[in-house]
Amino acid sequence: MIRILFSAGPDDWPIYQTHLAQALAARGIAAAITLETDSPETIDFIVYSPASPLRDFAPFTGLRAVLSLWAGVERIAGNNTITAPLCRMVDSGITQGMVEWVTAQVLRHHLGLDQTILQQDGIWRNDHKPPLARNRHVGILGMGVLGQACARMLLHLNFQVAGWSRHAARVEGVTCLAGDDGLGELLARSEIVVGLLPHTQQTENLLDADRLAQMRRGAVLINAGRGSLIDDQALIAALRSGHLAHATLDVFRTEPLPPDHPFWTCNRVTVSSHVAAATHPDTAAQAVAENISRSLAGLPLLNVVNRANGY
Ligand code: NAP
Repeated sequence: MIRILFSAGPDDWPIYQTHLAQALAARGIAAAITLETDSPETIDFIVYSPASPLRDFAPFTGLRAVLSLWAGVERIAGNNTITAPLCRMVDSGITQGMVEWVTAQVLRHHLGLDQTILQQDGIWRNDHKPPLARNRHVGILGMGVLGQACARMLLHLNFQVAGWSRHAARVEGVTCLAGDDGLGELLARSEIVVGLLPHTQQTENLLDADRLAQMRRGAVLINAGRGSLIDDQALIAALRSGHLAHATLDVFRTEPLPPDHPFWTCNRVTVSSHVAAATHPDTAAQAVAENISRSLAGLPLLNVVNRANGY
């Protein structure tokens, strides 16, 4: 019998309880799951989200792994009291949700849907003829699990897709770029840029005034990775000057986005309240149980965070 500490937000346990029990049982794993413990040294796995108050993992001396319920791990990757492997959440539900959200946002801007939806004013306008997707360049910053899934869907719709990552990805049909020059090339060619990068020291403020200036005039920025990617003031300036046409932002430096933040009142910004892709308890429980099963079988864990890289 293994012992699991479930340490997440107060509302999470009722949602996960049944899914986790079923996912473990389906793999033949006998587990005692607890929400708190007086004997941390007996805990084998911690299923964790930063919504829990747990910050000191040192007393958990027998830990085999910390399994994050969140895809983004910037709030835990630097926690030096974690000496066991830390796994981030890769959940088919998150991936599918992100593909749907990104595709919807790209199509909104590609087709100019706002012109129809927001202009029901009695004026007949039929002068807006969007190009076909095959003539539209979309660039994706971050070609990990989510970036690649979005790239494949956009490719399926015939968009001209480029992707940028630390090490150039390999996705057939996608122009895969890396490095400083690669970033410049992606920004210069893309009419729609999608941010799907994690928060790390290297990605913070990556899209500063200089980088935003490298984007095509009239381009659109969509960000669903982390808000720290963007220099907020530089983005507002680029939008006000007309260099960029629009920004659709799902993630922010401070969340909830403060009511007095200029993004709320800039008519070229769409604020989305970090809803692009939620963790889905049924599929997430499968991901957690799969990693526990692998650990017990002596197999390598999936989606282990590289603590030095921060993601
Ligand atoms: P992932 O699989 O770890 O992929 C991260 C990608 O970013 C990789 O391609 C990586 O490059 C690239 N990258 C990291 N640092 C870089 C740098 N300094 N320069 C260039 N590329 C860099 O992560 P994921 O699952 O796709 O998720 C991405 C992020 O989405 C998460 O970290 C999270 O913050 C965010 N997210 C948001 C939501 C939402 O609802 N808005 C939901 C889920 C996740 P390499 O391939 O070369 O390593």
